[in-house]
Amino acid sequence: MPTDAIVLAAGAGERLGGAVPKAFASLADEPLVVRAVRAVAAGGVDRIVVVVSPDRLGEAAAILEIPSGVALSIVAGGPSRVDSARLGLASLRGDPADVVIVHDAARPLVRPATFRAAIAAVLAGADAASPTLPMLDTIAFVTGDQISAIPPRAGVARVQTPQAFRRTVLARAHEAAAAAGDVSATDDCGLVLRYVPGARITAVAGDERNLKITTSLDMELATRLLAQFEGVGPEDEGPAGDRSSSRSSSGT
Ligand code: C5P
Repeated sequence: MPTDAIVLAAGAGERLGGAVPKAFASLADEPLVVRAVRAVAAGGVDRIVVVVSPDRLGEAAAILEIPSGVALSIVAGGPSRVDSARLGLASLRGDPADVVIVHDAARPLVRPATFRAAIAAVLAGADAASPTLPMLDTIAFVTGDQISAIPPRAGVARVQTPQAFRRTVLARAHEAAAAAGDVSATDDCGLVLRYVPGARITAVAGDERNLKITTSLDMELATRLLAQFEGVGPEDEGPAGDRSSSRSSSGT
């Protein structure tokens, strides 16, 4: 079953600080986006489109490696995550895959098992699937300095990427969101929930190590996790997976 993947790397990543956008910041001397693409390729996909900001197209083409057996393209994103995902999806023309993965470049430590779980859920009949983790802290709705509600923690989960979708469902959600001018969703399962009534969205096991790099503290934690992964073989599912690749000289 052919599987496409969209790697979102067009954010500014201002909370990380630094001179370059987050996806181009280095984790142990390699940009997050390079690590994320390698991790997605190891997750068993056939095509990857990397979405970067328009002014980073050349840099992305110069630094991204083409994973063996995977078609790689690079496209310009938009001002919001929703725009970038829609543009990435639109670029995946021709013989469209049945399953489309959306992954944030900000999660470069993702392991193949997480991809397998999300893809398997869609192949088993779900319209969409997302890795989730139990919520450890109590969550509050806050307006200004006022706490207005505290939902029961048992019903709340943390949502990660990679998320997997039946292609038609993801396309429908993005078409409807674009028609409504709605770019507020922070993930694509949220978009499907909002715009594809009745969609079956399955929660699969997330991974604490698949952390989302947002702040400089996250970068420090990721550096330590990476050091722990060193020496871990492919069957133990190190995030880098198969490193055989060639250097990209051009992108589309
Ligand atoms: O801002 P946040 O960290 O939630 O972004 C999640 C992912 O979406 C990041 O990998 C970021 O690069 C990507 N993104 C994007 N285009 C935008 C905004 C965010 O591809 N306009």
